[in-house]
Amino acid sequence: MTSPGRFRVTIVHPCVGRFRGMKGYMMSWQMEPLPAAVLAALLPADVERRFYDDRMEPIPFDEPTDLVLISVETYTAKRAYQIASEYRRRGVAVVMGGFHATLCADEVASHCESIVIGEAEGVLAELIDDHRHGRPQAVYRAKDRPRLPPTDPDRSIFRGKRYLPLRLIEFSRGCRFRCDFCAIQSYYSATHTHRSVARVVEEVRRTCTGRELVFFIDDNLTSSLDDAKELMRALIPLRIRWVSQSAINVAFDDEALELMRRSGCQGILIGLESLVPDSLREMNKGFNLMRGGPRAALANLRRHGLRVYGTFVFGYDSDTPDTFAAAVRFAREEGMFIAAFNHITPFPGTPLYERLRGEGRMLLDPWWLDDRYRYGMVPFQPARMTPEELQRACSRARREFYSWSSIARRSLHRVNYRDPGMWLNYWLINAMHHRDTEGRDGLPLGDEGWTGTLLESARAEHVTVSV
Ligand code: SF4
Repeated sequence: MTSPGRFRVTIVHPCVGRFRGMKGYMMSWQMEPLPAAVLAALLPADVERRFYDDRMEPIPFDEPTDLVLISVETYTAKRAYQIASEYRRRGVAVVMGGFHATLCADEVASHCESIVIGEAEGVLAELIDDHRHGRPQAVYRAKDRPRLPPTDPDRSIFRGKRYLPLRLIEFSRGCRFRCDFCAIQSYYSATHTHRSVARVVEEVRRTCTGRELVFFIDDNLTSSLDDAKELMRALIPLRIRWVSQSAINVAFDDEALELMRRSGCQGILIGLESLVPDSLREMNKGFNLMRGGPRAALANLRRHGLRVYGTFVFGYDSDTPDTFAAAVRFAREEGMFIAAFNHITPFPGTPLYERLRGEGRMLLDPWWLDDRYRYGMVPFQPARMTPEELQRACSRARREFYSWSSIARRSLHRVNYRDPGMWLNYWLINAMHHRDTEGRDGLPLGDEGWTGTLLESARAEHVTVSV
């Protein structure tokens, strides 16, 4: 229902899910939702905008609005459909975009009036205009990878909300590698684009006070090492402290590591994934074995004073019960700042999902909509253990890595204690993980206390969407 006055758009960031009557939310998940701020920045200037973060505030469904925008990820799909149903039964049109809308287009299309396939930059202005004038299309498809927007995210929508003290900045999107479990390579078709370095530097200058930690949220900051180096050179005079994510290849480029250190890099997330060579090859990540593999890579990162957030995944066919203990031992010996130990999750649209499906090994499909599924559950049949064994082994690995004795021992690695400020951060972040490690397992997807009915779009029967 469009009002005669200004067009009103409400952006909603859905939570993953919550238990009935749950108070509060996982602290470590409460980062600024940058995609919402990018959407807000793309809206025409005369549009009235509001933003609600479902993780930390109730959504006022009865507040008048003309259109709702929801960016959907696989983990938030069920909650997004609940939120969409609330608005739609009040006669408000809902638009969905994001990874899940592209990789699972038919499903998402049945829960909203319009979906955006691909990145929103190229289509949002047209979409708003169509909805405003009562001629919405069911599908808006980004034609090419856009040059990333010259507009900066509109962070004014975060005002009054208490996020973790991290300033999220985007330099690039996508990644040139093709790891089989990774939705990023599926979504971006293994391509990589970036914003202009001058634009990013200007945004950092304008929005950072120098006290907060900057998080470059790029999927793989160093997918193009030359572009990443250009950014780092430009960051040096700004004297910021930053963290980001990268593939392992950066660890063997001394020039890049030196630029990282000089530009204020405090630590980097590296997708180590596995110490089992056959598992790495199975996931199409054999490049992690390059030039001496993870031990050599981590030694080089430490030599340059860079802390590491190592991520591991388990459940490939070559993994055995011994694989978990070896990874935890390795992460502790290497003095990792923090680490993640998760089972592989078959996200729709990834080669992993298609393979497991083809082999008849999906136990819950689609797991993200199944009421039996809980956060941390294994929705497929592993080759050499039961799903429950895989789940328990991942939980045990996290508990061991974030036990107080492990936290204390890792804190004594020189790379973790050499800077007093970061040493304090080390304790705060590890304590947060110690607490959240137990808290998120078993979380339902969607709001368990929601009593409405999911509205399926009548048009879905007639609209076939393929990516
Ligand atoms: S290197 Fe990282 S971002 Fe790139 S495809 Fe592999 S897992 Fe995805």
